[in-house]
Amino acid sequence: MRQASVSSNDPASFWSSLWKRPDPFLLEAGAAGEKLVARVRLLLTAILLAIPVASLWYEREIWENLVGLGVTIAAFLVALLWFWLVQQGFYRHWLGFASSLLDVSLVSAALFVFVLLNRPHTAVNSKVTFESYFLAIAATCLRHDVRICLLAGMSAIAQYALIVASATMMWDLNSAQFSPFAYGYFNWSVQISRLVLMFVATLLSTSVVFRVQRLLRLSTCDRMTGLFNRGHFDERLLEEASRASRYHRPLALAMMDIDHFKTFNDSHGHSAGDEALRMMASIMRASFRQSDVIARYGGEEFVVILPETDSAAATEKVERLRLSIENPPIPVPGLDVAERLTISAGLACFPDDGSDAAQMLRAADHRLFEAKRRGRNRIVSRERADSLMHAPD
Ligand code: GH3
Ligand code: MG
Ligand code: MG
Repeated sequence: MRQASVSSNDPASFWSSLWKRPDPFLLEAGAAGEKLVARVRLLLTAILLAIPVASLWYEREIWENLVGLGVTIAAFLVALLWFWLVQQGFYRHWLGFASSLLDVSLVSAALFVFVLLNRPHTAVNSKVTFESYFLAIAATCLRHDVRICLLAGMSAIAQYALIVASATMMWDLNSAQFSPFAYGYFNWSVQISRLVLMFVATLLSTSVVFRVQRLLRLSTCDRMTGLFNRGHFDERLLEEASRASRYHRPLALAMMDIDHFKTFNDSHGHSAGDEALRMMASIMRASFRQSDVIARYGGEEFVVILPETDSAAATEKVERLRLSIENPPIPVPGLDVAERLTISAGLACFPDDGSDAAQMLRAADHRLFEAKRRGRNRIVSRERADSLMHAPD
């Protein structure tokens, strides 16, 4: 997730945040939710399978029960396949979309079977089957993705509207041929209320996920800079280090500190210092990839996790950042003159500088200290451990 501002109240950022891919943390929570939904779906379809089997046992309405049996067997097999997939640990963000669409479509398919069986009132006035839409819409929250809630909810509304429209086009639903109306008369106001209720359920599930996303942002971001905070960084570093070790992939960690920032504060005041920190954060955001994790580690210290990056590539990136901060001097709002700020950085890479998160942090911290000791405004990494990058101040 690209670091976002915590307090974004303008409508444009509201809509863009609504439609973006969720944070990796939420994707993981979505994978756990998917497992739960797969289990419940399998159980439900197994129970539903018993209904046509029991009806066939009593040999009533053989043709209808065979169709019912075919549909429930198909639903059970799809549920079983899905359950097997998520049990294998297979989860991609599109799977949440697909399975939510599958859930609402299974409910629609069950209703549409009644239309095909010339029992339109069972389709449009059904009690239990229709209510299952609300289960499917509520379950979309477990995928922790606003887009999934909206897409599945809107699909449910469109599919149900089509079922009702097709039933009303094929039959005069209140004609005497359907007497004694075991499922009740057809009533447009009831149908419209049902569609409105589905829309409200969709909005509610969307709002729940949106609130969760906002809470997550508040708990993982540094309020002043909008970058990730130390707590989130610590967790992500553990995660990325174990991923790098499991798949034997490169991983780099950079620790950066603004040089002589106390002097800057003493000369220009703390609010100018805050502004400089915010500008520093936005330069960093522009310098790294979407997949890099940039965090404010402490007061004027920043850290970046660079997945899939070796020491040479990371050194080059941080060197480019160092140059772009140094030159031209940063024009801090409220100051008459642009002030030249510089950073020092220490770089550590997996596996050469440490085989776990703690060792990498120690190595990066040690090299940052070394960069300061050698005169600041420089990077110390594996490549550059022995060479001075910049003439001492
Ligand atoms: P060095 O080159 O050795 O890093 O020197 P330094 O002056 O940057 O380091 P020092 O640790 O002595 O001072 C860090 C300063 O960062 C002190 C503090 O005033 C400032 N600072 C830390 N957090 C904030 C903040 O949130 N806002 C402002 N304005 N200043 C901060
Ligand atoms: Mg410091
Ligand atoms: Mg400093």
